[in-house]
Amino acid sequence: MSDESKKLTTASGRPYFENENTQSAGPRGPLLLQDYILHEKMAHFNRERIPERVVHAKGSGAFGTFTVTHDITRYTRAKLFSQVGNQCRVLLRFSTVGGEKGSADTERDPRGFAVKFYTEDGNWDLVGNNTPVFFVKDPKKFGDFIHTQKRDPRTNCKSPTMMWDYWSLNPESLHQVLILMSDRGTPYSYRHLNGYGSHTFSLINAGNHRVYVKFHFKTLQGIKNFSSEEATEMKGKDPDHAQRDLVEAIDRGEFPRWSMKIQVMTEEQARSFAFNPFDLTKIWPHADYPLIDVGTLELNEVPANYFAEVEQSAFAPAHIVDGIGYSPDKMLQGRLLSYPDAHRYRLGANYEQIPVNRCPFAVNNYQRDGAMRVDGNGGSSPNYWPNSFDSIRADPSYREPAQTLESTLADWFDRNAPGEDDHYTQPGWLYRKVMNDVDRLHLVQNIVGSMKGIEGPKKSDIINRQLCHFFRADVQLGLSIAQGLGVDVADFMPSLTTNRVGA
Ligand code: NDP
Repeated sequence: MSDESKKLTTASGRPYFENENTQSAGPRGPLLLQDYILHEKMAHFNRERIPERVVHAKGSGAFGTFTVTHDITRYTRAKLFSQVGNQCRVLLRFSTVGGEKGSADTERDPRGFAVKFYTEDGNWDLVGNNTPVFFVKDPKKFGDFIHTQKRDPRTNCKSPTMMWDYWSLNPESLHQVLILMSDRGTPYSYRHLNGYGSHTFSLINAGNHRVYVKFHFKTLQGIKNFSSEEATEMKGKDPDHAQRDLVEAIDRGEFPRWSMKIQVMTEEQARSFAFNPFDLTKIWPHADYPLIDVGTLELNEVPANYFAEVEQSAFAPAHIVDGIGYSPDKMLQGRLLSYPDAHRYRLGANYEQIPVNRCPFAVNNYQRDGAMRVDGNGGSSPNYWPNSFDSIRADPSYREPAQTLESTLADWFDRNAPGEDDHYTQPGWLYRKVMNDVDRLHLVQNIVGSMKGIEGPKKSDIINRQLCHFFRADVQLGLSIAQGLGVDVADFMPSLTTNRVGA
């Protein structure tokens, strides 16, 4: 660096001669308005914060590499997967969901698992969580649900009453509630959790044939969770435990890795699946739809500047690439709109020009102007299409196959109508088939501990309603929780067996 370039300057480049004392009327007199450097320093400081994400505000990120290890070209023509051995750079942002930017990393919460693949065909974002399902299955319900995870309007505190009131009135949330209340709701670190694309997407191959797909990332560090007590203790000791763990592991050269796998379902299988394959509160059983190996994701680079590359990173499920498509998953459809909208609010209309979000390969379009346009704005090239001056064109070879729709009837369908209302079978599988004795014990303890926080005039209604859901998933689960809460179960026994598929 030359001496000239090391000079301290204002943002407009004027060299400072003094950075600690403000010009004043005499050594003990008031400050002078004309010391612009004081104003610039204070004004910029006042504007250092951008709106925090309304969900997933507390996050950590790292760059890395994705390597294709298995051939899936029979399912997708995406260039990334065209050959075993292909690699691309990735950014992975982990997060908690409900807490603010300064909240503790060990809060009981799902964890965001958002991956940006910088591919030749454009940036592909897989914006998932560490759970394969979600609390609601219609995006119209998202804002209401999130309000219950935030702060009570009067006390400004988190409220178990709001949470359990909502969950008890929305039985479709039961599957995700069981995972959240298990020890997987308090992961030890971001390195020790699985990631799930959660939604159903499409894969489209070179023959323009579509299959449906779910994406999974299995941690190669092994699953490791805190118990509830350990998580609470860590909140006090080190609220940034997961952030610190990620940075320190990468700095030590212990690069965290995940193996990426897919589940595939044909359009025909989708029509006869026992559940709605596009319902985000359901999984596809592995026995029927086995995991297929795809590749390995490794994180190996801590971003040099957190704000520039993690806070300003913007992921959106809408960002897909050729060979990957959407599905009729209602939550996915809602997120296609809401994520880019959130980024335009938080970062501005030109958020995709911020270096961490910019596609490193060709981007050509006629979008111009807008706040903070910093890439030359297309220079003197045409800003309309069609035009007689450039050769930019749409390429029909990228066209997706048409999708057959089941219905031409537009209406507001009941998301829990018969056929959609089995909220209990899969949570029952989780409790009986997948969890071990310790998992089940901790699950019950965590639920009882949380539900004991329900208060107010509706306390009994909420508890009784929620207990019915637990009983419907598994009678033993319901009994254990009722016992923990000191509730007499005689009231619940009659109506426990409705709405279950192949339980
Ligand atoms: P499988 O036995 O084939 O798979 C069970 C899955 O559950 C594994 O992916 C496992 O992940 C995960 N798992 C293990 N322990 C827990 C836990 N305590 N909390 C949450 N997940 C856990 O079963 P099925 O495919 O038939 O599914 C049965 C149930 O398993 C489902 O109802 C669902 O609740 C849960 N599940 C299913 C997934 C799927 O995509 N099929 C994915 C995740 C959960 P790991 O191997 O990494 O431990």
